[in-house]
Amino acid sequence: MIPYGRQSIDAADVDAVVRVMGSDWLTQGPTVTAFERRLVEQTGAAHAVAFSSGTAALHAAAAAGGLGPDDLVATSPLSFVASANSARYVGARVQLLDIDETTYDVDPASVPADVDGLVAVHYAGLPMDLGRLVNRPRVVIEDAAHAIGARTPDGPVGNCAHSDMCCFSFHPVKTVTTGEGGAVTTNSDELAERLRVTRHHGIRPLGDPDEPWAYDIVSLGYNFRITDLQCALGLSQLDKLERFVERRNQLAERYRELLADLDVVLMPPAAGAGVRHAYHLFAVRVPDRARVYAAMRDEGIGVQVHYVPIYRFSAYSDLGVGPDDFPVTERVYGGLLSLPMFPALTDADQDEVVRALRASL
Ligand SMILES: *Cc1c(COP(=O)(O)O)cnc(C)c1O
Repeated sequence: MIPYGRQSIDAADVDAVVRVMGSDWLTQGPTVTAFERRLVEQTGAAHAVAFSSGTAALHAAAAAGGLGPDDLVATSPLSFVASANSARYVGARVQLLDIDETTYDVDPASVPADVDGLVAVHYAGLPMDLGRLVNRPRVVIEDAAHAIGARTPDGPVGNCAHSDMCCFSFHPVKTVTTGEGGAVTTNSDELAERLRVTRHHGIRPLGDPDEPWAYDIVSLGYNFRITDLQCALGLSQLDKLERFVERRNQLAERYRELLADLDVVLMPPAAGAGVRHAYHLFAVRVPDRARVYAAMRDEGIGVQVHYVPIYRFSAYSDLGVGPDDFPVTERVYGGLLSLPMFPALTDADQDEVVRALRASL
């Protein structure tokens, strides 16, 4: 089976993890700090705080941003459910906004004036243009789980040029992996401090020389810590980020050429100077998706659907909205199919995917 996505692990990654296994620190040690420093270099943000998962990063960002039960948080229905769940974890209400067919992201101009927070999803790795927000909510959190290595005209995704915080995931299907893991970047000293406290049970040391053991619990925190083992892998993976994203872009270009004569709708490309797509996913829209899905799977091609829109889930039925309220998302979702996209996919593998798709159509 050629999967839709998979990690690329080399001997340097293995050596990096093994080295940390013999060190004094398996967690809460210097490799976590080194990984955070590398994320700061990569993104250009002032701070990076690493987490046990992308979901924990989103949850902590919502908490650190002060979102709560009085707040309404907008996000995209065409995303992994964690984007919306992050608001619910802190008791906030969710409002889903229909997507823009030219980007598959939410149209920044469509964010209503009455929302308190925005979880901005960069679908498939194409950055939502937050510079075009007309109504900037009080708290803007980027869900950049797909978008490490992507760029906007304002610089790398993660520099928080138009947001308060930017969240990444390092799950193995994402562009760089730590096994499980995530991170939040921010330019705010105060948010960075709250993120660190939230990650570690709400603990803040008092710094009292007479009682050096003493600490306070300043908020409801969690154990959202990442380990040094995971960060050793992450550091080694970040060495290859440019190469990974470059190969993803090459594969995307090649898909666009190879699929040009087929009866499929290709996902929107990066448009505009200075925009770089990260191509976490390469999605097409096909007629008769159920049949194509089954035929591709029979041929050993592990196609997937990203995503079942969030308003279709029973856990979100209390929003009182459904498919009729999201005509664009429904039109896109109706034929959506993710083709294999990962750096180790060879040109020959890709030719095989295209051959199987051509046959199944
Ligand atoms: C993967 C993903 C997440 C969650 O990340 P985990 O590391 O799996 O917790 C959140 N949002 C989006 C859009 C994702 O793709």
